Amino acid sequence: QKFVYDFTEGNKDLKDLLGGKGANLAEMTNLGLPVPPGFTITTEACKVYLDSGDEPAELRGEVSAHLEALEKRMGKNLGQADDPLLVSVRSGAKFSMPGMMDTVLNIGLSDASVVGLAAQAGDERFAWDSYRRLIQMFGKTVLGVDGDLFEEALEAAKEAKGVTVDVDLDAADLKKLVQQFKEIVTRDAGRDFPQDPREQMDLAINAVFDSWNTDRAKLYRRQERIPGDLGTAVNVCSMVFGNLGPDSGTGVAFTRDPASGHQGVYGDYLQNAQGEDVVAGIRNTVALAELESIDKASYDQLMKIMETLETHYKDLCDIEFTIERGQLWMLQTRVGKRTAGAAFRIATQLVDQGLIDEAEALQRVNGAQLAQLMFPRFDHGAASVLLGRGIAASPGAAVGKAVFDSYTAVKWSRSGEKVILIRRETNPDDLDGMIAAEGILTSRGGKTSHAAVVARGMGKTCVCGAEEIEVDTKRRRLTVGDTVVEEGDLVSVDGSTGKVYLGEVPVVPSPVVEYFEGRVHAGADDADELVAAVHRIMSYADGVRRLRVRANADNAEDASRARRFGAQGIGLCRTEHMFLGERREMVEKLILADTDDERDAALAALLPLQKADFIELFESMDGLPVTVRLLDPPLHEFLPDITELSVRVALAESRKDANENDLRLLQAVHKLHEQNPMLGLRGVRLGLVIPGLFAMQVRAIAEAAAQRKNAKGDPRVEIMIPLVGTVQELEIVREEADHVIAEVEAATGTELRLSIGTMIELPRAALTAGQIAEAAEFFSFGTNDLTQTVWGFSRDDVEASFFTAYLEKGIFGVSPFETIDKDGVGALVRSAVEAGRATRPDLKLGICGEHGGDPESVHFFHEVGLDYVSCSPFRIPVARLEAGRAAA
Ligand code: ADP
Ligand code: MG
Ligand code: MG
Repeated sequence: QKFVYDFTEGNKDLKDLLGGKGANLAEMTNLGLPVPPGFTITTEACKVYLDSGDEPAELRGEVSAHLEALEKRMGKNLGQADDPLLVSVRSGAKFSMPGMMDTVLNIGLSDASVVGLAAQAGDERFAWDSYRRLIQMFGKTVLGVDGDLFEEALEAAKEAKGVTVDVDLDAADLKKLVQQFKEIVTRDAGRDFPQDPREQMDLAINAVFDSWNTDRAKLYRRQERIPGDLGTAVNVCSMVFGNLGPDSGTGVAFTRDPASGHQGVYGDYLQNAQGEDVVAGIRNTVALAELESIDKASYDQLMKIMETLETHYKDLCDIEFTIERGQLWMLQTRVGKRTAGAAFRIATQLVDQGLIDEAEALQRVNGAQLAQLMFPRFDHGAASVLLGRGIAASPGAAVGKAVFDSYTAVKWSRSGEKVILIRRETNPDDLDGMIAAEGILTSRGGKTSHAAVVARGMGKTCVCGAEEIEVDTKRRRLTVGDTVVEEGDLVSVDGSTGKVYLGEVPVVPSPVVEYFEGRVHAGADDADELVAAVHRIMSYADGVRRLRVRANADNAEDASRARRFGAQGIGLCRTEHMFLGERREMVEKLILADTDDERDAALAALLPLQKADFIELFESMDGLPVTVRLLDPPLHEFLPDITELSVRVALAESRKDANENDLRLLQAVHKLHEQNPMLGLRGVRLGLVIPGLFAMQVRAIAEAAAQRKNAKGDPRVEIMIPLVGTVQELEIVREEADHVIAEVEAATGTELRLSIGTMIELPRAALTAGQIAEAAEFFSFGTNDLTQTVWGFSRDDVEASFFTAYLEKGIFGVSPFETIDKDGVGALVRSAVEAGRATRPDLKLGICGEHGGDPESVHFFHEVGLDYVSCSPFRIPVARLEAGRAAA
């Protein structure tokens, strides 16, 4: 096994072994681009080191051999006193990760070689500047010295000299600073700064290995579900110097604008500086285009290299480069990050350029980006005052009056006000307020804080951790600098950018939604370009996907929107809303019925109403399948609240005018009261114990279908029985339903071809799916309930309570209600699919939980071989896109 690769030996596909940085440095080297020579120590070496606590025995020798080769090539030895070879030691895992060790530059400098470097460069200031940087970076990242100590000393030196920027310190100042830095190291690290260059290098390499296991890196990996055993590679790269005077410098560049995707010259350049200065923002950079007038030859060369890289990687690349006395060097490249809109545009631009095909274009975008493009946005043409900036925790554009507690949020929103709930951080007590608010703003907490997790779950706009904002809940106001926002003042919160504005910023609908709605968007060219790109990508996706996409929609209006968004049917029509509103009274009668006659009368009253609802729904989905689920929720949900009713009855009794109906109602409420309604009398259990209920619903469906048929419509109805745990339940309900359907067919003289199937949402149903398939023509996986029952926690109770803690501890990377838990819930789905199909090869299979619109879950459902996913109307485009990506 080989632990060290020269840059000439690797390539871009070896990211597992060489990390992202190392693989791409090798790729550029082999493309003949000017990369300073060097070598990469593999992730395998890191793994051995982490497992055994010691580097592999062969590593030292291999590093020595590669170092020797490098020295020979460069014509000087590492740290050689009269002319030192210097190197950088750079970490580089497969995925870039916050918390990993920073790069150490200028390794090889010592009290002796700094003199040689000065003589060779003919520049004493440069040599001492490089040396103080080494001690500072090495001290901080390898020896664990508090970085502030160096910063303070640097500040003091500038102050003593009366200058503000480090370039104004001369060689003598820097020499003094080096002395101070060395003393800081000795004091704070308890050891001297190592003068032996090889020791410097080896210590830095081990420090990179160790940084794999810092707490921050571990937490990040758990959250992002990056395996903990990948290890990091280490790159040793000969130094080139951007700090050798005005004909030197360093910069970053993009091959296209990462915001719009347009080709052009994008980047920043800083003269007379070393790499880390650009990122640190120590001095002001200039736009990359200005390099043309500073150093035309290097500029032209850079432009050519950028073109080479784009053509080679077939994607937007970002680049780090350095110019040393007019000579250009490439220090890093990778496929660059971009905004959601740019991702769509770049993908189609690359297809037009013939660089990628349509299948590849689909891999260049994703559903999360599409979802982001569908949120309404602030009209940035309008004037706005930025209040502050936090973490973009949950996208959207929300405007409302500032409120600082949950109670006020609820109160104001009940009276029709739009409010933004502003808290230092939220906790479960804020839930009502969060529901009532248009958006949520906190000054503390990150992407996994309570506010962020709950807001994302609710699809509510949220910015968290806006640290400049001082929230004073007692005085009901916030302050940012001199600006004070009182309760009731308008604020605007942009959950897509993390920005918070004072006042009302106008909101415009997303051009992408306008497009899906079939409305012409009267927007800028910019929006037209975006819409055109989305349109093309969607047609690629629709062209290749195998999964069909249906909507969860309960009424004709949602159904029509879903159809415009591309739904190929309804996968879940809940019937419970048909029992609400004015109909609640009829439901009460049904529940209170003492005799068969009373009950039949109540059902008979509900029948025509349900039937009318179904006719409308079937009409709006004419020609497409509609899955109607029979009544699912526990009956007490249709009755008054137990506490409220008890108080009302008690008051009435004390006045001696208790009303007969209320007393009966209270009795019924008590009887139906359950400790665990989620696991109580609901779903098919209702159909089995309340005579006539399901029969009435089936009759309404059948009569509606018959009527549509007679009107020359094409209703394709599927009747779905919820919460089945055993085939016997389904058989009983089915027998009754078949009977009712036959009756309606006979009475109307039409053949209805209604199919009957069930939800698979209990572990027992999944485990006995083979038997259940005998009585079901289709399965629809109810992954919300299945997740609840497999994990044994109720969604309503846990998301706001312990989920934040679980996410923080990395037990979940993401809520199992958001993305299907493949190993647990997913395994049950997979085995139920197999067992069901074994019994009934033409069994139709779908899923109708929230997961139907979740990108990662859609890929899973594609892979296990479902026929369709069903999701809320707004998620349909996302599901279509992801189904296409899964198949491409
Ligand atoms: P990061 O992953 O944080 O970007 P890098 O390893 O890329 O870390 O290095 C940090 C900075 O140092 C970058 O600006 C990089 O260009 C610069 N740098 C790294 N190695 C060298 C080198 N051998 N010569 C000159 N500059 C370097
Ligand atoms: Mg870098
Ligand atoms: Mg359910």
